[in-house]
Amino acid sequence: MDKNWYEALAEKSTAGELPEHQTCIDLLTDKSVDLLSLLHAAFAVRRRFHGREVTVHIINNVSNGLCSEDCNYCPQAKSSSAEIASYTEKSEAEIMAEAKQAHEAGAHRYCMVYAGKRPGSGRTERIASLVRTIKAQYPIEVCVSAGIIDLAGARTLKEAGLDRLNHNLNTSPGRYSRICTTHSFADRLNTLKAARQAGLEVCSGIIAGMGESPDELVGLALMLRELEARSIPVNFLLPVAGIALAEPQNLSPAYCLKILCLFRFLNPRAEIRTAAGREYHLRSLEVMSLYPANSLFMDGYLNTRGKSRRDTLQMIIDAGFTIKSDRSAEELLRDEAAGEPGKKRPAPTLKSAAELHPAKQ
Ligand code: SF4
Repeated sequence: MDKNWYEALAEKSTAGELPEHQTCIDLLTDKSVDLLSLLHAAFAVRRRFHGREVTVHIINNVSNGLCSEDCNYCPQAKSSSAEIASYTEKSEAEIMAEAKQAHEAGAHRYCMVYAGKRPGSGRTERIASLVRTIKAQYPIEVCVSAGIIDLAGARTLKEAGLDRLNHNLNTSPGRYSRICTTHSFADRLNTLKAARQAGLEVCSGIIAGMGESPDELVGLALMLRELEARSIPVNFLLPVAGIALAEPQNLSPAYCLKILCLFRFLNPRAEIRTAAGREYHLRSLEVMSLYPANSLFMDGYLNTRGKSRRDTLQMIIDAGFTIKSDRSAEELLRDEAAGEPGKKRPAPTLKSAAELHPAKQ
């Protein structure tokens, strides 16, 4: 691909225009696409709408496991034998203490996640009450992920002050029944439409690596554009022992970056999150994901650990990005380091004689 190809991609995207469908497919599949040039083009779009700022999220699993659903990518699914901690809802005091910690750790957004198909009216009211209390005490945005929600439920949450509702599309409509049989793609789409109708911002993303084709990825990025998703978590399937879908497909670090670029070009203003699987699949290219994406999870995902807070903050600082918070990444890093005084950067160690000159031993 020549220079014009990358420049045209960035210019079209920034202007709000759609690239040709074949360009989107080429971006993912054509071997002549140069990864650095593609990242540079995606970064031009990211910089135009988000500067060098990174939005940091911290997740709270308010309830975990004991789920009736068979989402085969999820360790909490009934189809999974993964050894996870299972519990029903945490107490209000516990959730509030974790909201305080998230705020103090620099999170722009606090994500409360509930396992299960859909909340009953009792749970919806409890979530609404929690949202009111958190918003009254901390200047933090709140996002809730609680399964399928209808219009009445979405309105209750909106009236309580909820900013965003998360419900991921995960995969294409045609593939959905292969990853889950207990609810449908339409259930997911209707939840997002209800959220929009109630005036909530929509957070919805995907899990790559479940056998989807480049065409399906392009279709998902376009659907999220049509839904005007404000936030798009791009997850990469994690092969947790015990889940039904334990074999991620076609996820090289370069391909993961190309997927993030695709979502950036098709959703230029959205908050694109380099989400679960960031460390595992991007490996040594992890920091490059901040060029197309402008958001990440600070310290782990629903049931899997990620980088520590210190390491995530250090990565952001090292690459010259800032964070969206009333405190700087440097200040937050100093606080994290003060909380772990014994944990220092390992000093350089000297090589032994055997390593330097094996034949002499
Ligand atoms: S993704 Fe949600 S609904 Fe599906 S199995 Fe996991 S916790 Fe249950």
